[in-house]
Amino acid sequence: MSPSPSVPSTTPAPAGGESVAKQLFLGNILEEALFPYPQIRARDRELLGPVTDAIDEFLAPRHAELAHYDRIAEQPADFIQALRDMGLFGLIIPETYGGMDLSNGAYARVLAQTSSHDSSVSLTIGAHSSIGMKGLLLFGTDEQKRRYLPRLATGEMIAAFCLTEAGAGSDAASIRTHATRNADGSWVLSGEKIWITNGGIADFYTVFARTDTPEGKITAFLVEAKWPGVSHGQHEDKMGIRASSTTTVAFADVRVPPENVLGPVGKGFKVAMSILNSGRTGLGGGAVGGMRTLIRLACAQAKERKQFGKSIAEFGLVRAKIAQMTLECFAAESVVWMVAHLIDSGATDYSVEAAMSKVFASRAVQRCAYEALQIAAGNGFMRELPYEQITRDTRILSIFEGTNEILHLYIALSGLKGVGAGLTELRAAVGDIFNDPIKGFGVLGGYTGKRLREATGYGIDRIARELSPRLRKAAGIYEKYTVELSKAADQLLRRYGKRIADQQHAQNRLADVAIDLFVGLCVLSRADSLERAGNPAAAEAVALAATFARQARRRMARSLRELDRNEDEAIEQLAGTVLAHDGYLWDVI
Ligand SMILES: Cc1cc2nc3c(=O)[nH]c(=O)nc-3n(C[C@H](O)[C@H](O)[C@H](O)COP(=O)(O)OP(=O)(O)OC[C@H]3O[C@@H](n4cnc5c(N)ncnc54)[C@H](O)[C@@H]3O)c2cc1C
Repeated sequence: MSPSPSVPSTTPAPAGGESVAKQLFLGNILEEALFPYPQIRARDRELLGPVTDAIDEFLAPRHAELAHYDRIAEQPADFIQALRDMGLFGLIIPETYGGMDLSNGAYARVLAQTSSHDSSVSLTIGAHSSIGMKGLLLFGTDEQKRRYLPRLATGEMIAAFCLTEAGAGSDAASIRTHATRNADGSWVLSGEKIWITNGGIADFYTVFARTDTPEGKITAFLVEAKWPGVSHGQHEDKMGIRASSTTTVAFADVRVPPENVLGPVGKGFKVAMSILNSGRTGLGGGAVGGMRTLIRLACAQAKERKQFGKSIAEFGLVRAKIAQMTLECFAAESVVWMVAHLIDSGATDYSVEAAMSKVFASRAVQRCAYEALQIAAGNGFMRELPYEQITRDTRILSIFEGTNEILHLYIALSGLKGVGAGLTELRAAVGDIFNDPIKGFGVLGGYTGKRLREATGYGIDRIARELSPRLRKAAGIYEKYTVELSKAADQLLRRYGKRIADQQHAQNRLADVAIDLFVGLCVLSRADSLERAGNPAAAEAVALAATFARQARRRMARSLRELDRNEDEAIEQLAGTVLAHDGYLWDVI
């Protein structure tokens, strides 16, 4: 994967380019990559203030208008023009091409700010930057960049990412849109993409097509909306993020000049995955912005609403919800910024960390939306208040940019690959299934399990010793469970051998443990850095980090226990029965 073009931040890249998350599966905590918690670079800090202020100034007085756009399912042209005028389409484009050149961390913060007002706004600018034209930044030639980036920076051109098709969702490698090469080197592109964000307003598409060349199966192309044969369908009538444009995009024998191939011919799948991996912090930032709004709304509602002669904020069950929302927001924020900074610092292997941050943040914001609405109860159910829209808007976050299920499998299989690769006999036998964990589902090598080494725990114990005393217990939890994770990964490989790729229940549990470990370590690092810096809210952050660690320990212990003691077989059978009957079998009447 190409590194992000951003200027390095203060965080050092992981030693040897290793993935912090993958190392957890080997029993290692790469603390030098996680501690101290990264600081945003000075230039970004300077730029961020005016940008987030401008966003607040523009969007805060328009909440009623934004709710109207949700109802009519449209962002009017003059509204999109205002987003252009604010420079929101040039956030991550280098200054030489007219953009702001924000780092991934700063970009995630901008999306948090827009999402704190409205998710559709975030999606319009986020789909443009995170995925629509990200491929051009990562893989484009200088000539391609000169040709397109200045217009993409101003928003004269809006970008979209065209991968999904009717028959190819999670299984993106099975796309049918195809391109054939002419004698003059140009290509003829045909096919239809579905559910394309910005599809109806974009001028520039990053399109993935089957090319079946000797170099590989899929190739990425840069396609302009105005070219003959390019068209888009009607705006989809969606459950949430309704104002954001989502359409089909069709290509009918579109001639694509050779200079519009993006990245190497035949390497389009890698291009697509690299874009999605590096774009996930934008989505995470959006989730954090939503959570901050929900916490603010929940506090106001809980204090204002009186029942049984008291403000409901005095009741333990309401307070528990507010506290849990805050824990999850802090944790999501900690992991999203950490991943953004890992990318900014030049890490090359961050796809597992990005997947973890996306899964955690998307689940957290949906739980927050549920609990905030529950605190508002009947009022929350009324469309007059924003809860129902936020509930609808955040639902998409566990579906797109890789479903959370697929990302769980990806996290587990990527981690297991490292464990397997540590052994020569395993590497030869199970290597195939891990070469591309997403493409490799169901493909098995032959594995004759031999006893693997016990986790040695390299890198362990150092964190606990060096952390501030109030965080050592929490550090001890992560150290212990990092070793437990590596042992469990090791045992799973031994137990299932070549069948490991089919063990989705086990993979899911392993991924959950790894996510808790990685997120927990980010929380720990942040609380430690806040305390060392004498931050006025450090004591609260330290207490929060300790609480998160205790909760994480219970979740991790349960997941690990359930690797051995579970009802998976019964659950599989029940699913089989219900599927065989096409539905529910019983009736009490
Ligand atoms: C509003 C919206 C905007 C979108 N924007 C874009 C865009 O801009 N560009 C673009 O290219 N695409 C876009 N998409 C498509 C999106 O990325 C896909 O919806 C997503 O990849 C999932 O594909 P699918 O919906 O076809 O689900 P499917 O792949 O059909 O999956 C259905 C269910 O099965 C599960 N599943 C699938 N395979 C497995 C497996 N191997 N093991 C276990 N479970 C599995 C999934 O997790 C899911 O729960 C958008 C979608 C929506 C709804």
